[in-house]
Amino acid sequence: MVYADNAATTKLDIEAFAAMKPFLLDAFSNPSQPYSFSRTSKKAIKEARETIAMCIGADPEEIFITSGGTESDNWAIKIASCGGHVITSAIEHHAILNSCIALERCGGKVSYLGVDSRGVVDVTALESKIDTSTRLISVMFANNEIGTIQPISQLAEIAHKHNCLFHTDAVQAVGHVKIDVHELGVDLLSASAHKFNGPKGIGFLYIKKGTNIFPFVDGGGQESGYRAGTENVASIVAMAIALKNNCEHINEHMNKVYALENRLMSGLYDMKLDFIRNGADMRIPGNVNLSFRDFEGESLLHRLDLMGICISTGSACDGVNTQISHVIHAIGVPDDYAKGTIRISFGKDNSNDDVDEILNAMRKIML
Ligand code: PLP
Repeated sequence: MVYADNAATTKLDIEAFAAMKPFLLDAFSNPSQPYSFSRTSKKAIKEARETIAMCIGADPEEIFITSGGTESDNWAIKIASCGGHVITSAIEHHAILNSCIALERCGGKVSYLGVDSRGVVDVTALESKIDTSTRLISVMFANNEIGTIQPISQLAEIAHKHNCLFHTDAVQAVGHVKIDVHELGVDLLSASAHKFNGPKGIGFLYIKKGTNIFPFVDGGGQESGYRAGTENVASIVAMAIALKNNCEHINEHMNKVYALENRLMSGLYDMKLDFIRNGADMRIPGNVNLSFRDFEGESLLHRLDLMGICISTGSACDGVNTQISHVIHAIGVPDDYAKGTIRISFGKDNSNDDVDEILNAMRKIML
């Protein structure tokens, strides 16, 4: 099998996996208990929080463990609270877009920033959308479909000029490009472990010290009383190891996946197919989003699947209609190309052989 869908999820880091086992089998205690048996798990969470914080330039008490990117995004948007005004972009993940809809249901107001044909948000339009009720501006670091990286520090600066909080959904970026929360100037940042070779169902929200927040999950005193529930110790430990391992080799991994992308692109250009490569030049490493003229993305996905290759599409098929994704729609890909959109996303475990297999399969299907 060739797995080229690393934007959907990544393979668990083997060291992270090994580190989970003791906390599932032996040191299984509830970290909140006062007896000495719980010391090991309590210490492990403390160390994991320190490691995560170090990887993004934060302080440990600014890291709040969540169940993943979706929860972190929900929490960030709900910090704006009912009645507040949020500004976000048209190409966010549904974890943000649907949280915004929920906010509107309880009396909040949401404004959307448009993007250009590369998927870069309209920075100049931001100031005109800010009003006295604006509490939060949320723009994703890198888009999950087309990979475009946004001018985050510029956007955060505008937000702060108007006394608004700034959140970024960095789920596709953390562990793949260098992230320093101070350099970015963000107040809130979402991350998800399974996107950086950690386990599924675990993530974190960075919340800058001094940010006015209220508990997201009410209950016990875990996560400083802001997100209650007995901690998933094994996954927290594994998340920290996976992140550290990725961050220590970030340049090496970036160079590797850029080389894989280039190999794929030159093979595709040689095939002389009619296609558009979506996204900006400043994009997340490994992302190749392509719209082929007069092809069906869904059909390509299934035919590649039959040949043992996992990729993704830019559309969701409901059996009757093939719907173009909101991202492909927002960047204005022409209709005869849009429905032929696929996303190939390479990760550190892919090889030149994987690229060649994908190219061979595409040659068989498309020529
Ligand atoms: N945000 C972005 C940009 C994503 O790509 C994803 C997952 O695909 C999420 C949020 C949701 O993350 P999770 O799967 O951890 O809930």
